[in-house]
Amino acid sequence: MNSNDGLAGKHPSGSDVEVLIVGAGIGGLVLALELHRVGISCRIYEAATEIRPLGVGINILPHASAILTGLGLEEALSATAVLTQEAVFYNRFGQFIHSEPVGRPAGYGSPQYSIHRGDLQQVLVDTVLDRLGPGAIVTDHRCTFVDQNADGAIAHFTKSSDDTQLSPISAEVVVACDGVHSAIRKQFYPDEGQPRYSGVTMWRGVTVAQPFLGGATMARVGWLASGKMVVYPIKNDCDGNGRQLINWVAEIETPQRAQRDWTRQGKVEDFFDVFKDWKFDWLDIPALISGAESILEYPMVDQDPLPRWTFGRITLLGDAAHPMVPRGSNGAGQAIIDAHRLAALLAAATQPTAALLDYEAERLPRTTAVVLANRTMPPDTIVREVWERTADQPFDRIEDVISAEELSAISRKYQEIAGYTVQDLQILNDPK
Ligand SMILES: Cc1cc2nc3c(=O)[nH]c(=O)nc-3n(C[C@H](O)[C@H](O)[C@H](O)COP(=O)(O)OP(=O)(O)OC[C@H]3O[C@@H](n4cnc5c(N)ncnc54)[C@H](O)[C@@H]3O)c2cc1C
Repeated sequence: MNSNDGLAGKHPSGSDVEVLIVGAGIGGLVLALELHRVGISCRIYEAATEIRPLGVGINILPHASAILTGLGLEEALSATAVLTQEAVFYNRFGQFIHSEPVGRPAGYGSPQYSIHRGDLQQVLVDTVLDRLGPGAIVTDHRCTFVDQNADGAIAHFTKSSDDTQLSPISAEVVVACDGVHSAIRKQFYPDEGQPRYSGVTMWRGVTVAQPFLGGATMARVGWLASGKMVVYPIKNDCDGNGRQLINWVAEIETPQRAQRDWTRQGKVEDFFDVFKDWKFDWLDIPALISGAESILEYPMVDQDPLPRWTFGRITLLGDAAHPMVPRGSNGAGQAIIDAHRLAALLAAATQPTAALLDYEAERLPRTTAVVLANRTMPPDTIVREVWERTADQPFDRIEDVISAEELSAISRKYQEIAGYTVQDLQILNDPK
């Protein structure tokens, strides 16, 4: 594609912009930074009337954090995130099962960030506005559909605030980064139906508390059938007294209670009883739940992988392309990798439509493998294995239940599928 630094006025091709990005979430913002880096002009159109720090904690594993480091964001992210050093696994009686290093201590060249989604989004927004200019993100533009002809693609919008129709905007290509409720995915797959419920409801919260297990540990405790808790800090010294902002997710098998909505409020009385006795010498989980500033409820859902993402000048990216159950810390990471690869392929291509097809050919099979692995064998398979072998009872010695080698093999298998073994990343960083 031709490069064009200016965002104002028409692109030499006659389009308003080369790449029109729908959605200023994690994938759309990283795509804008990656396109800017390779000299391709772009603009983001976001439905929200203003970008607010929504959500709770997410993890960025080294395959994706390496891309953020390449964009020069490591200093800004390290100032707001926790650089997680270790993953640990316990049963619901608080008995230790397994631990392994993660991020740099595991030998990767880039960290694992545990971060508030709002903080990550804010770092990305600030950097986009700084590098691409104040007009790079246009809010209050809800994309309703996209059409195309031989000369370009045309995106149609309404205002989110009052549904007024807005002028259509033309581009050489349109990338749908509009998340789990993607309007553009629905345009191409109108009969897809409801998301697939995994049988698990999540209650997510953040609590200001004392650091636990050294202050840089991600803990997975118990198994879904009798209650599981994922806990990790996402901000250091958030009160000037050394306490951390701790993110926690309670996961329990239940019939489906609600449709997916990132902002749905949860009620503590709906799940507290399951965890009321989980007071361990290394963490008091009932106190953590009781101290939460607010609680969100979300059904653990995904959608079956699609046969294609690219339709001429239009393609899908991130959750719009491959929504997955959040059980392997890969949702945001795979969106970041999509963005990195799409920008590189567009920069190398003479025909943007060929680049979109190459992007789909490379990324669709890989993300399909992650979506399916998250259903059947995510990292918390370790706790399920112990739960099954002990019939959900305390054990005397973990070595009598499962060997350390078996436990490490489970983790390694998932890393291979998601593409982030240390070896994978060395290959990725090899300029050849
Ligand atoms: C409000 C919110 C809170 C979230 N909280 C969490 C969380 O706590 N934990 C977690 O693991 N994941 C959370 N996620 C999802 C997480 O950000 C994604 O799974 C992941 O980062 C992949 O990013 P994405 O860019 O594909 O999608 P997202 O980050 O979801 O971004 C999609 C963006 O597109 C915008 N959009 C949607 N429809 C349109 C449209 N028609 N036109 C224009 N713009 C549109 C949305 O407003 C949003 O900004 C949240 C997402 C949102 C939107």
